[in-house]
Amino acid sequence: MRKITILALMLVLALSLSACGKSNNGGGSGDASPSGSAANAGGGSKGTIGIAMPTKSSERWVNDGNNMVKQFQALGYKTDLQYGEDVIENQVSQIENMITKGVKLLVIASIDGESLTDVLQKAHDAGIPVIAYDRLIKKSEYVDYYATFDNFKVGVLQGSYIEEKLGLKEGKGPFNIELFAGSPDDNNATFFFNGAMSVLQPYIDSGKLVVRSGQTKFDQVATLRWDGGVAQSRMDNLLSANYTTERVDAVLSPYDGISIGILSSLKGVGYGSPDKPLPIITGQDAELASIKSIIAGEQTQTVYKDTRELAKVAVKMADNILNGKPVETNDTKTYDNGVKVVPAYLLTPVSVDKTNYKQVLVDGGYYTEDQLK
Ligand code: BGC
Repeated sequence: MRKITILALMLVLALSLSACGKSNNGGGSGDASPSGSAANAGGGSKGTIGIAMPTKSSERWVNDGNNMVKQFQALGYKTDLQYGEDVIENQVSQIENMITKGVKLLVIASIDGESLTDVLQKAHDAGIPVIAYDRLIKKSEYVDYYATFDNFKVGVLQGSYIEEKLGLKEGKGPFNIELFAGSPDDNNATFFFNGAMSVLQPYIDSGKLVVRSGQTKFDQVATLRWDGGVAQSRMDNLLSANYTTERVDAVLSPYDGISIGILSSLKGVGYGSPDKPLPIITGQDAELASIKSIIAGEQTQTVYKDTRELAKVAVKMADNILNGKPVETNDTKTYDNGVKVVPAYLLTPVSVDKTNYKQVLVDGGYYTEDQLK
């Protein structure tokens, strides 16, 4: 009896799995023909591009995904866009599914840059090229190209902003500063931090910038998965341990979601009043909440990276790879992933604050005036 039930269950499972396979090919991702045979069919759909993004919890990745879908579809490709929601295993299995479905190419913004080695081996075995999107994929030979921004420069923009606003070049100080970095499993995080510290470290060494917590090393200041809540509790601890009598004048924050967490913590202990003004707080991504915060005089700065442009670079790379055309790169030295130096195309990030957000973001068509109200 039990055997029969198990057999029946297996049969149902097998049937539903094969049905599921069909619907994935035939309709799941909007692909009209089974992608496996589309390769040989000639004409019709150009096939499906698999796009794996890290999380929807940050607006930028939602925009990145949507921008790529639009642009790939305009060129006649189908797309399969998936978000791993910051769970490494989700992302790995999403990419595995894309490979099984026979996507033509993969565009991946990794959650953990070091955890895709096996799945990229599978992509390679299936003849599927891979573009690393925004974040470098490490420890794999099978990353063909890398589309990103100048990540070191992002950090330099953040550090230079603090330098300028505090008047450090003019010899002002000493000021108190605390440092935050991004996720240790994201290669970008060290680039941002090193870029910022290339500007700030000399002032720390000369005593013009004082880190009261003493936490100046990447490992001490990193924020796993770029989590704003984690940053907020770290800031709570820093404030209660080091700033009961002292005031913090600047906070290096690598990303808008982290800046918002830091701000909550500061406001919680009374910063943001006339006798206790908020420190200078940097950020990254020009997310809507942060631009509103900048307009309201809370967050001070952000680094804008036009996701439409990054999508354009990645889509062009993909289209050229698939058509056997040369792929344009402008950096073939920087991004060593541990196995190879991945040829990259770097876009230029832009510092944005209260003085230029209209010109850069509104005139540039990234946001409408109405969105910022
Ligand atoms: C991206 C940043 C983003 C961060 C958190 C980084 O890899 O380059 O733009 O702020 O991830 O999502």
